[in-house]
Amino acid sequence: MTFASLGLIDPLLRTLETLDYRQPTPVQTEAIPAVLKGRDLMAAAQTGTGKTAGFALPLLQRLTLEGPQVASNAVRALVLVPTRELAEQVHESFRVYGQNLPLRSYAVYGGVSINPQMMKLRKGIDVLVATPGRLLDLYRQNAVRFEQLQALVLDEADRMLDLGFARELDELFCALPRKRQTLLFSATFSDAIRQMAKELLRDPLSIEVSPRNAAAKSVKQWLIPVDKKRKAELFLHLLQDKRWGQVLAFAKTRKGVDQLVDELQAQGVSADAIHGDKPQPARLRALERFKAGEVQVLVATDVAARGLDIDDLPLVVNVDLPIVAEDYVHRIGRTGRAGATGEAISLVCADEVQLLAAIETLIKQVLPRREEPGFSPDHRVPQTTLDGQVLKKPKKPKQKPVPGAGATGKGKIHLGNWFDESEKPAVKAVRKMPGFGKPSARKGPKKPG
Ligand code: AMP
Repeated sequence: MTFASLGLIDPLLRTLETLDYRQPTPVQTEAIPAVLKGRDLMAAAQTGTGKTAGFALPLLQRLTLEGPQVASNAVRALVLVPTRELAEQVHESFRVYGQNLPLRSYAVYGGVSINPQMMKLRKGIDVLVATPGRLLDLYRQNAVRFEQLQALVLDEADRMLDLGFARELDELFCALPRKRQTLLFSATFSDAIRQMAKELLRDPLSIEVSPRNAAAKSVKQWLIPVDKKRKAELFLHLLQDKRWGQVLAFAKTRKGVDQLVDELQAQGVSADAIHGDKPQPARLRALERFKAGEVQVLVATDVAARGLDIDDLPLVVNVDLPIVAEDYVHRIGRTGRAGATGEAISLVCADEVQLLAAIETLIKQVLPRREEPGFSPDHRVPQTTLDGQVLKKPKKPKQKPVPGAGATGKGKIHLGNWFDESEKPAVKAVRKMPGFGKPSARKGPKKPG
């Protein structure tokens, strides 16, 4: 299969040649001809499958060959994305793929001044990539108009809903012309997403590229059990001992991200952070520096890191497991992209065993465990099973009846109750039991990125 056989025009084929894209990925093979024909699309495709080119290439072609010149403040194709980083990234893809075409693209998102965006929109934009909140602001201020809109793309639609953009999206959908092409991409398909698809799409072609929620096969995954308080120390040890190159690390909270970055920097490791508290220019700068190889470790929260495209990233480390199991799939999707192999290592403490069980159920595999010498946890991480069970400590073997006391029956000492919460003997004695390590009650999740 070649890009030419999918019906792409010469200027795009030349660009793909310079990018060294030799053949289309599965999502591209399916999406490109359908989008060129004007069909609506509902696609379950993860980041890393080449989905951006799957919609960007045919849309660029249609915008070049069909439709009027863009009018002042008008937009001809709108791509809605959940985060600022993804907006920049998708815009960059359109810029690169469309380098030989006479089209203008631009990205708008919150967290930066709105005035330059209003100025830029005055001339009209062929492809506008936007986060929903800022786009709505611009629309309400008449800085953007949709009469010329030919195509709408919802990228990572599930994430937009997760981030609470449902109201903004509804208001925007009402403002768009009904006659248009709509493409919906989502990693997962909840009822809410299906409902949205039903309302927005007309006779869509459904594409499911990799089995839903299955982690990329090219990523080797395992976990290292460790006590919570030693995670940073273990990370630093592995970084040095295994001579890791660049690492993308994930922590659960903004505070956790900052703490890890501080500890790494204190040890002379070049590290930077991406999370929701950082101003937008600082987030983009951190990403650029990481991509340029100036920073060895980039530490991020889930919200900020969703959809980041970083070429040839060999290693992702989950310093904390994500609260939402699907985010695990997205995190490890940063590595093993476009056919490359990658590794994803999770540092898991006893508190996280329920999160681990949920992830393993989702990805349909129990993650292999490798203990790191010197870091065996005091609080053991209980074993998990494929059906999401957390195995408690092994049962104490049945005691032989003590002469004169009997093990069962009324009025007799009942040894079997020893390991009930209420009656357990001194903690010290129980800790010696293999498999002991009941996770302490987890506090409510802190707000991520
Ligand atoms: P995406 O899933 O759109 O984020 O793309 C993942 C990565 O794959 C990006 O770095 C693209 O540049 C790259 N890519 C997309 N399509 C191809 C292709 N056909 N051949 C090689 N690399 C590709």
